[in-house]
Amino acid sequence: MVPAKCQTRMRATQGKSGVFSTFALMRAALWRENPSERRLPILPEYIPKLKELGLEVLIERGLGASIFLSDEAYQEAGAEIVPDKAQLLAQADILLSLEMPDLTAFPTATGKVLIGHLNAWRYPERLAWLQRQGWTVYALEKLPRITRAQSMDVLSSMAALAGYKAVLLAAVEYGRVMPMLTTAAGTLAPARVLVIGAGVAGLQAIATARRLGARVEAYDVRPAAREQVESLGAKFLDLLPHLKAEGTGGYARELTPEEQAQQQAALEEVIAQADILITTAALPSRPAPKIITRQALRRMKPGSVVVDLAAETGGNCEDTIPGQTQSIQGITLIAPLNLPSTLPLHASQMLARNFYEFLRLFHQNGSFTSHLNDEILQATCLLYQGQPTETKQPA
Ligand code: NAD
Repeated sequence: MVPAKCQTRMRATQGKSGVFSTFALMRAALWRENPSERRLPILPEYIPKLKELGLEVLIERGLGASIFLSDEAYQEAGAEIVPDKAQLLAQADILLSLEMPDLTAFPTATGKVLIGHLNAWRYPERLAWLQRQGWTVYALEKLPRITRAQSMDVLSSMAALAGYKAVLLAAVEYGRVMPMLTTAAGTLAPARVLVIGAGVAGLQAIATARRLGARVEAYDVRPAAREQVESLGAKFLDLLPHLKAEGTGGYARELTPEEQAQQQAALEEVIAQADILITTAALPSRPAPKIITRQALRRMKPGSVVVDLAAETGGNCEDTIPGQTQSIQGITLIAPLNLPSTLPLHASQMLARNFYEFLRLFHQNGSFTSHLNDEILQATCLLYQGQPTETKQPA
């Protein structure tokens, strides 16, 4: 494969034989993303390891402030500090990002490499711009769900944090306690928590709610979820035994309109019984399925709390307004965006490991090279030097 265009910086290393050899060093840039983004894709401890892969790191001044990391911490680890985005992009070969960047303000940045957790399907115009500018783009949300890719799986890392935090948000908003409490003043009933979508986020929500002492039930369209739900001590609701919607790659498939209507009707009664509802149902590279109708939400008891973790992709509730908290007939509906960013230190620790493991795939023949000689890189590559690639899309 042809290496991506890069400014050639040579480094000399002495091999066991005592012979010096030279490698082209690529330069990766990290910049401050939108102000609400507090996570970082690389932490200082990974900078020496990246150098071993043939990658120098440039960071925008102030990058680590969100997690109390100084520029000096990055500098001491071997990164170079650059004052602004324009200079950073001019010097870099590669941009590492936690969102799909809008690069229209940098028209001279051409033929570079973008690697990130991009949710690219939501930003077709930005992708089209990168295509016109001859960029190569690797999107980590396209990682195949194979054992070898688990250590790079940003989706699972972030989903686990989101599932945990969703229960805490609900617990704070809920005007009662979560566990059963037997006191001299009487016995308080435990909260009834319903989790819809028992994937990575849902399972972490179940585990967190159980730790807080709630009574937890869960539902998913993938039959494989039953065993995982039960192993966490929650009850699996087999509401529609005939409706199995296992897709490929571990994901669920989209329901037909008839199946969706059946599901909405079957869930209405159990939703009405829940004190706390956490919804996490998602479909790969598509808007979230609508599962909780306006009518179902209004049948919940006043004082109930709903956290719609699918808000990022439109939400599982018909009432959801992404990023907003609403009070609807006494029911609190929370639709948070980028919840993992509210746990920036642990999120950054997980992301840094995921990114580092992914970046290792580019190390080939002693240097860091943008290539497609690996099934994981093939699956994640959306554009190669401006050309769309045939990615293996999950169904
Ligand atoms: P996801 O975020 O795409 O979806 C969340 C959950 O919503 C899934 O469990 C899905 O089945 C469910 N869902 C979708 N539509 C639904 C509907 N209409 N009604 C009810 N539920 C609905 O999924 P995820 O959390 O990323 O992972 C799904 C599965 O993949 C999990 O079992 C996980 O363990 C597995 N996984 C495997 C690997 C790997 O092997 N490398 C990595 C990550 C996850």
